[in-house]
Amino acid sequence: MSDYYSILGISKNASQDEIKKAYKKLAKQYHPDLNKNKPEAEEKFKQVNEAYKVLGNEQKRTQYDQFGHDTYKQGAKSGGFDGGFSGYDNTGGFGGFEDIFNDFFGGGFGGSRQQTRRGDDLQTTIGITLKEAYTGTEKRIDVEMYAACEPCAGTGAQDKKRKTCATCNGAGRVVQQQRTVFGTFQTQRTCGTCGGRGNIPEQKCTSCLGTGRKRTRKNLRIEIPAGIQTGQRIRLSGQGEAGEAGTPPGDLYILVLVEENELFRREGENLYCEIPISYTQAVLGDDVTIPTLEKNATLEIPAGTQSHTQFRIRGYGMPSARGRKGDLYVRVKIEVPKKITKEERELLHAYAKLQGEETKPQKSFFDKIRDAF
Ligand SMILES: [Zn+2]
Ligand SMILES: [Zn+2]
Repeated sequence: MSDYYSILGISKNASQDEIKKAYKKLAKQYHPDLNKNKPEAEEKFKQVNEAYKVLGNEQKRTQYDQFGHDTYKQGAKSGGFDGGFSGYDNTGGFGGFEDIFNDFFGGGFGGSRQQTRRGDDLQTTIGITLKEAYTGTEKRIDVEMYAACEPCAGTGAQDKKRKTCATCNGAGRVVQQQRTVFGTFQTQRTCGTCGGRGNIPEQKCTSCLGTGRKRTRKNLRIEIPAGIQTGQRIRLSGQGEAGEAGTPPGDLYILVLVEENELFRREGENLYCEIPISYTQAVLGDDVTIPTLEKNATLEIPAGTQSHTQFRIRGYGMPSARGRKGDLYVRVKIEVPKKITKEERELLHAYAKLQGEETKPQKSFFDKIRDAF
């Protein structure tokens, strides 16, 4: 396969507009929907997309130009997937492919060139309320990190120009001869001039002194999906720390902690709460309004409800990743008033008298206990 520029049929100094135009034209031409049962077209379509993901992104294009097609591709191939995270992948823009490519590229360089690796992954924590977890939310956070130096686009070089390292001739390693009593040994070590990268800035960027990155406070917008559980992480691909002099950035992980709620306890997709009802509501039955996280729900309490009975209201729990909602479990607790009016007291006395004449629940209960021993 030829390089990305010839795949898109453009020159090396094509503008972003020209790249976009070429991509659109070719993507249409080879689109699988228009080329059913044509594997060559599908292959072309893939290549065109791959080329555009790199050339259509200024930072990646700079890296591509700098490392050359084969090295860039090699970096892409020898990497691996990041299987370690749980939760949501918040890529935006190009979606999954770019993400995978970032991983490939990032992982790959560690292997072939010791010193040249991608920037560090960062993790930061964000606290949200249960209600925000229910609806999904957007947050802005400040993260302090090394970000790509703007004047040199992270290359560390004035005018973004780097040249082959003269010390190692671009190999990144130098051979060293060591004389010992056992004879002369040849050892390889990382080239000190270029740090193992094989190239150095023609002229160091005056803003970052050649490191390609600068300590910056970044203000980021985080989209938190509905239904997120406490302890889940959101990955923002490529938003981590910039690597040294033009190496790809790391990822940023947002650890989401959902605050405890006064009213609702959460277990997975289900919510649990306890509400007080009066003795008369329990005896006579009533419709009770339950304030939920979104809208009010009506719970129908049947006559003769016992204290601590649990009711289920379907679909009023937390949203799940699969799109359905869990259930809300409501436990009712009969509340005894601490203060009553004179009139209420009289009525209750009359009621108690009535109870005493008919049944004696208290007595029969104690009888049962006595019988048990
Ligand atoms: Zn070197
Ligand atoms: Zn710079």
